[in-house]
Amino acid sequence: MAAKSLRRALFIVNPNARNGRKSVATVRQVLEDGGLTLVDAAPAQGENLSDVIRRMSKACDLVIVGGGDGTLNSAAAGLVETALPLGVLPLGTANDFARTIGIPPDAHEAAKLILSATPRPIDLGEVNGHLFFNVASIGFSAELASELSEKAKKRWGKLGYAIVAARLLARSRLFTAYVEHDGSVEEIRTMQVSVGNGRHYGGGMTVEETATADDGRLDFYSLEVDHWWRLLTLLPSLRKGTQGKWDDVRAFQTTEVTIKTSRPRAVNTDGDLTTWTPAYFRIREKAIHVFAPLDKQQGLLTPIETEVSNDR
Ligand SMILES: [Mg+2]
Repeated sequence: MAAKSLRRALFIVNPNARNGRKSVATVRQVLEDGGLTLVDAAPAQGENLSDVIRRMSKACDLVIVGGGDGTLNSAAAGLVETALPLGVLPLGTANDFARTIGIPPDAHEAAKLILSATPRPIDLGEVNGHLFFNVASIGFSAELASELSEKAKKRWGKLGYAIVAARLLARSRLFTAYVEHDGSVEEIRTMQVSVGNGRHYGGGMTVEETATADDGRLDFYSLEVDHWWRLLTLLPSLRKGTQGKWDDVRAFQTTEVTIKTSRPRAVNTDGDLTTWTPAYFRIREKAIHVFAPLDKQQGLLTPIETEVSNDR
């Protein structure tokens, strides 16, 4: 299917995305010069992006979403249900999914890619019916997301994130979790459990260095550390995605895993708290189609400096 045969693009840009407004005019021009008719749409009262996509599905041939990982997440269900291909404009503060699949960090380049690329199948993760592009976590990072208010994110950015993280770290505790997968059940003591679909998350962290969003696998890791300060020494590995080599990090690949805890714990999907334990995770293989480079390694060849996530 050639990109040129797709004429009408539903065009949704998150107006609150940090890098939203400044790039939109040039990006529109690129897309229209490339032969696309842009159909503008925004959520009505009480709608999310998936509702907009469902409502507009007959009026478009593809969907272009401008924003960060949180914005993409709210479009996921609508994209799966309508099977419309997705073009991504990485306009958020954290654009980890775009990075995972090799979409250029520059919005202008990303727009040109939508015109030239062929949509390719991409997996999504699912936990208790909630879809995610990058990662779902239980424990420390879920608590971090709940403590960091939208207002604080806008006002303090990276600094606010660091302050909240430091406060939380100082009082964080291990919890018991039961991990069921591939015919085994393990009882673990952990500070955080993460289940990744793609490679990058959290504005510069890495689930696993070789993970991709089209390998049909979820990548699990669990931080089974003695003290919170151990996380500081683990940080370089967590950024590179090599944490699995340490004795106090459990890591494996699977297609489904269930995590139970003694009391319900919040689950963070792509930066938002959406469900609770017990949490049943599964891979949704080839769930959507995305305009992306065919070379899976491209994301590695175009390293970008991402700042700490606060487009969540
Ligand atoms: Mg994967």
